Amino acid sequence: MIHKSYSEIKSGLSKKEFTSLELINAYLDRIKSVDDSIKAFLSIDPEKIREAASASDKRRAEGKELSEFDGIPIGIKDNICINGEKTTCGSKILENFISPYDATVIQKLKSKGFILFPRLNMDEFAMGSSTENSSFQITRNPFDLMRIPGGSSGGSAASVAASMLPISLGSDTGGSIRQPAALCGIFGLKPTYGRVSRYGLVAYASSLDQIGPFSNDIQGISDILSVISGKDENDSTSAKISSYESISLNDSIDVKGLKIGIMPESERSSWQEDVQKKYSEILAKLKELGASLVELDFSLHHYSIPIYYIIATAECSSNLSRFDGIRYGYRNEEAKKLEDLYTSTRTKGFGKEVKRRILLGTFSLSSGYYDAFYGQAQKARVLIRNSYIEFFKKVDLILQPTSPTTAFKIGEKTKDPIQMYKADILTTSVNLAGLPAISIPGGLDSNKLPIGLQITGNFFEEGKILSLAKALGEMSETKIELPKVIQ
Ligand code: GLN
Repeated sequence: MIHKSYSEIKSGLSKKEFTSLELINAYLDRIKSVDDSIKAFLSIDPEKIREAASASDKRRAEGKELSEFDGIPIGIKDNICINGEKTTCGSKILENFISPYDATVIQKLKSKGFILFPRLNMDEFAMGSSTENSSFQITRNPFDLMRIPGGSSGGSAASVAASMLPISLGSDTGGSIRQPAALCGIFGLKPTYGRVSRYGLVAYASSLDQIGPFSNDIQGISDILSVISGKDENDSTSAKISSYESISLNDSIDVKGLKIGIMPESERSSWQEDVQKKYSEILAKLKELGASLVELDFSLHHYSIPIYYIIATAECSSNLSRFDGIRYGYRNEEAKKLEDLYTSTRTKGFGKEVKRRILLGTFSLSSGYYDAFYGQAQKARVLIRNSYIEFFKKVDLILQPTSPTTAFKIGEKTKDPIQMYKADILTTSVNLAGLPAISIPGGLDSNKLPIGLQITGNFFEEGKILSLAKALGEMSETKIELPKVIQ
């Protein structure tokens, strides 16, 4: 049961081939047998989950199911608030924090009868590209336990790749859904900024953060997006557009005549060789199918890492000022004076990378440096956004690899933050512009590690992205089988 796709699970439940409790028990067994090695979950409450599944079965037996999704399990990253559950953001400073309310996305999932599986591991406050920055544990890549699953939503990606769940939620500020989806061989979508409410997502960089789905098939992405999207009075940045309709993925689309933006040869030399090879192979296949491939000028995008790391750290230094020992989570009780209380709580509560970013952000916002760093980065951000607007006058969609490399070894980049930041070279510009993008499986490298392909679309054109994702997913070149046995 656990090795079924999301679509097979959804149809099996609705045809009553199995009950939600049977399904959930199979996943709980799988978690018990493999999560000691993977470490995707920070905690799990089997009794609570079983109770929710039994309630769902009862509803279905009485013909009162809440929706077509009633009884489907979904994993939740540990920075999305669930009433009465711990929400630690992978940080010691929130180790004992219990959320007093549901995030909007959680309310929506509950109202449709989804069975929630909190709490999936992540880089502390979503800062990282490998999940090594969690204060609690390092999550491992199900394809190779010596390697990272990507980050920051490493727990959300690894749980789906290891068949501990069919779908999960993560958050993406600069690549944290797409990059781990790529490295774990599954699907992961960052919606258009404003498509999904951020109410109840613990803020990292508010102008970039979006919640989005991971799935082991493309229908799961389309379905979850339709459930979680929509305007929300509690998030003034959520967009007033009609809610996203799950698209039917039964019909194949014709890529003939589709204009696809691609990266010129000169941009590809820094990528791992297998990634370059796979990218060329897939472009050749698309050309054969009649797509017209248009080389775009990405030279401005070389600046996206510095722009992103100035804006994201500036916003994080402001957002994380609320963790001061007074209002939330950990407090150093030994402090004698108020100033000491703030300082020692934050010194002990935050990890190294979070402190580095708070320092960087505070510096670039300080008077005297504001114009030189933050002000410049804001202007450059507009240029990146404008470059995409120009791209989409010429093409329907853009196709790139999601990450320049496949999964690297645990510990390989922890000593050199700049190398770690470079893992996001192909994902951050999408957040700076506020566009939607997906990562889909794109075959394996010579070490049998997954390669990810990123499809970026124009604002609110998730439907178009999913259609190309579906077409690419049917090609033999992109197929990846998820690991059944994990040692
Ligand atoms: N790796 C990037 C960072 O560390 C992106 C993280 C994210 O998207 N949350 O900021």
